[in-house]
Amino acid sequence: MSFEIVCFDCDSTLSKIEGIDECAKWVGLGEQMAQLTEAAMNGELALEAVYAKRLQLIRPDKAAISRLADLYLAEIVTGVAEVFATLQQQGKQIHIISGGLRQAILPLAAFLNVPESQVHAVDIFFNQDGSYQNFQEDCPLAKTGGKALICQQISAHPETMVLIGDGKTDLEAQAVGVKVIGFGGVVKRNIVAEQADFYVDEPTLLGVLRYIL
Ligand SMILES: [Mg+2]
Repeated sequence: MSFEIVCFDCDSTLSKIEGIDECAKWVGLGEQMAQLTEAAMNGELALEAVYAKRLQLIRPDKAAISRLADLYLAEIVTGVAEVFATLQQQGKQIHIISGGLRQAILPLAAFLNVPESQVHAVDIFFNQDGSYQNFQEDCPLAKTGGKALICQQISAHPETMVLIGDGKTDLEAQAVGVKVIGFGGVVKRNIVAEQADFYVDEPTLLGVLRYIL
């Protein structure tokens, strides 16, 4: 099977971190937030039930988002740069589809030569002094089913698309006919290993290429 449009999740797929959990640690809420994230990624809690709750407690400011952007890059998963370069050489269209915060992901996307228009994530808004104001509440990616909706917006031909990710929210793309490659290189989730069309269980992302090219 060969795909023309390749979509990647970000957290625990391109980078070893869960961005919101890192922000939570910096304000002393690490454990509490990590439990909520785990529950959402395992499908025990709906994403919308935890999304606003996490951000209202953490209230990441501009400095936190900048620190998070650096961390996404520092914790990049082995093989990611090679995978992106290979796909780009082969003329594949690459998108990043993430329930994470867009401004923190853009520098990683730039490093991987993915244009901003192909980065789909949740916007965060700041007050004049850089303090947290709000997030993009109507963003589909902050809700259950969001990744499927974004896939539909990207292309009317889901059979040409594949999505690579580690979590339950990534599996949702299957509902609109997109094939999903589960990635267990950072976190292995049984539900994803069982339900994904393909599963890569190695610490490097390079293993996904055999299912894409
Ligand atoms: Mg993820």
